Amino acid sequence: MTNPTPIAWPAVHAEALAVLRDYLRIDTSNPPGNEAPAARFLGRLLAAEGIECEFIETAPGREAVVARLRGDGSRGGALMLANHLDTVPAEAEGWTAPPFAAEVRDGRVYGRGAVDMKGTGVMHLFAMFLAKRQHVPLARDLVFLAAPDEELGSSVGVTWLIRERPDLFEGVAFALNEGASGIPEFAGRPAHLFEVAVTEKELAPLRIVATGTPGHGSKPARDSATVRLLDALDRLRRWQRGITYTPETRAYLERLHEAGLIDDIDDRAGVEAAIGASPDTVAAFTNTLNVTVLRAGTQSNVVPGRAEALVDCRLLPGQSRDAWAAEAAAIVDDPLVQVTLEYPTSAPVVASPWDTEVTRVITEVLTETFEDAVVLPSSSIVGTDNRFMRPLGIPSYGFIPCLLSQEERDGFHAHDEFLTVENLNLGVEVMYEVVRRLCEAPH
Ligand SMILES: [Zn+2]
Repeated sequence: MTNPTPIAWPAVHAEALAVLRDYLRIDTSNPPGNEAPAARFLGRLLAAEGIECEFIETAPGREAVVARLRGDGSRGGALMLANHLDTVPAEAEGWTAPPFAAEVRDGRVYGRGAVDMKGTGVMHLFAMFLAKRQHVPLARDLVFLAAPDEELGSSVGVTWLIRERPDLFEGVAFALNEGASGIPEFAGRPAHLFEVAVTEKELAPLRIVATGTPGHGSKPARDSATVRLLDALDRLRRWQRGITYTPETRAYLERLHEAGLIDDIDDRAGVEAAIGASPDTVAAFTNTLNVTVLRAGTQSNVVPGRAEALVDCRLLPGQSRDAWAAEAAAIVDDPLVQVTLEYPTSAPVVASPWDTEVTRVITEVLTETFEDAVVLPSSSIVGTDNRFMRPLGIPSYGFIPCLLSQEERDGFHAHDEFLTVENLNLGVEVMYEVVRRLCEAPH
């Protein structure tokens, strides 16, 4: 074959930034989602490149867009680039930049969805565009899927599509989605650390119910339900859990050690100090808990007989939910405070294999891009649509090919969410290169 024309990257970068800004200006806060205009926006761009696409309505005002570039199948099943159209809502009063204006300031694009995950959606989109424009001879189908409703559980998103349109997932050999990214430092040392999520932490939220003596608000209560609940939550807050050594966290630490980023992986105090530098790293190595809901009382002059808390808990792979609830109950250690799992069962968490064509290509591309790149499997600390696709037997990877600073990672679901233009450019280039190498016919 003839060599394709080299890609004019500066022009592509400018184009990707313009597309991302237009995309961020389409408000897809979920609830209510209302993703149809965003699906149509992406679909118009795909159609303009001559790429066939389909809009699928999953509920009124809710749509997915699917596009496909056909390959000859000689390298097997399709690669799917999957992303979500919706975002969590934004409390505009807490932002310094309006959340739906896509303001560019100091090399950063601000907007709800910049990192979660319209930025990555644009990287997927441009991988499609470039594969088409460069006439990459495809040895497998390349599928783009932008789905609604990820932020509220995907019941009119990916799980709806799996149930109603199983054809979309038939013949898909691998999928890329969100779930993990690169980070530019580890424990204060500069690094090019790229996590690729092969699984995710398991939700094990707890319900904590305290009972006590109800009464008149005028008399100081010694054992009211509210006081018991506060004591119980305080004990959970002080619970020193530290790092949990599992086969996965140990393998992760070994890679950090090989890269010179951790001195001694069995020096618990040293490891805990290193991972403690970032809340994301703490979450990657520990079972977490966060008190998120408190309920008690109706008015200030009535001591309630019952007080309740819900605690968001996320467990590392291989941890038992029942054992977790029992341990928490032992920490609370109060017969009038009941500690139970908020819901008793959950679908088993499935892990994708690490040693596949996808992770080999990702590792190859990243180590060519950064000499000292460390690429390693991780468990996503948040839930993603990968959890619905892995049980279909589709190895699905969380892969945001950017070096997200702590500040950028803190933007997920928070105020002033942004992505740097530099990261957008890096992501567009790396994503295309990964896709090209995974799909191109050998020559
Ligand atoms: Zn997301």
